[in-house]
This record gives sequence, C-alpha cells and structure tokens, in this order.
Amino acid sequence: MKIGVLALQGDFIEHINILERLKVKAISVRRLDELKDLDGLIFPGGESTAIASLMHSFNFFKSFKELVQTGLPIMGTCAGMVLMAKKITHSNIPPLGFMDMEVKRNAFGRQVASFETELIIPTLGEKPFPAVFIRAPLILDTGPEVEILASLDSGTIVAARQGTKLAIAFHPELGSDLRLHRYFLEIVATHKLIGQGSIQTGANKTNCKVPISVD
Ligand code: GLN
Repeated sequence: MKIGVLALQGDFIEHINILERLKVKAISVRRLDELKDLDGLIFPGGESTAIASLMHSFNFFKSFKELVQTGLPIMGTCAGMVLMAKKITHSNIPPLGFMDMEVKRNAFGRQVASFETELIIPTLGEKPFPAVFIRAPLILDTGPEVEILASLDSGTIVAARQGTKLAIAFHPELGSDLRLHRYFLEIVATHKLIGQGSIQTGANKTNCKVPISVD
C-alpha cells in the first residue's frame, strides 16, 4: 500500500510520521508524476489559500479531478477538507468538489479561538477522540450521499465521509490517537481489493474491516 501526502504547504510531515507508525509506505507529493501508483492521498492541514495557489501553479487541479474519477481514496484534514468541498462559503478558492458538501473556512474565529475537545466518533468506538481544532473550518451542509461521522455538541458537523473520501475539520495527525488514519487505511485497503476483484459487494460500508498492520 502506498499513500501520498500532498506536500506543497502545511503539516504533511505529521501525516507521514503517523503513516510510518502504521507501517505504511508514505511519500510526499510535490510533483504531478508522484501521483502515479498511489493507493490513497492525504490533503494536510495548513493554509488552504496557499495550498490552492500552489496547486494551481503546479497544474495539480486537472490531475486531481481525473484521479478522483478513479475512486482514489482521499482524506483531507482542516485546510485539506476545505479544498475537497464542492462549495466553499465566502472564499475565492476554486473548489475541487471531491465531496458533496459546503464548508466554511475559519469558522470558529481567529487563531486564538483554536481549541481541543474530546469528540465522539461513533464509527471509531466509544472512546472519545482527542480533536485539535486550529482556525478550523466546519461543514455547513452535506448532500444525500455524505455520511456524517462526527458533530460537536452544538450540532456542528466536523467529520464526514462520501464513499472513499474522508473530510476531517480537525488535526488527527497532531496527536497520538491513530484511529482516524487507521480508518482511512481500511477504506484504502477495501478499495484496493475491489480494484483487484477480490471483493465485490458492500465493501464501501463504514464498518467493513480490512486488516492492516498496526503497531
Ligand atoms: N484556516 C485555515 C484555512 O482555511 C485552515 C487551518 C488549518 O489547516 N489548521 O486554510
């Protein structure tokens, strides 16, 4: 299994470190040719305006749109989630439209309003997930194919899934809880098996478990 982490700007190293802890081959992606042969891709947190502008400069937009049609599993965290949306409220960033959702950038206020909370993510089990929100976005609206994975007590949606795509408003890469990365790798492994014709039905369901090596 080979996972690419978009490394134009932001905290891509932290994602790579987590993937390595999970014994998965991870590469940083800075050039178009590095998208070849990936089983999954991660869009890290950072500054979505800067990442979008670099994506534009390096001609990534067209390739991403093509890649997404192949069903490639993609996880976006924070700024990465912003880029994956179909609609970005009050922003000039061109949306990639990977997921049928509308997001709002910097939705919780300025940097000083960043916070950490124990978030219940039912698909990961009962133990709360330590979720770090740094000038985070939120999900304002979702289409019928989007599954909501987690909301704050206020009802604000902060994690969602659509098929092989995962959007997380916070930073699972900054803590030591590996469950969200592991969950993404299960999506990747399942997608890979479907591609190989090893399994067919129901494989995209949230609870489908495919074993991956973990420490
Ligand atoms: N506020 C940033 C943006 O919208 C995201 C911040 C982050 O990734 N921590 O680009």
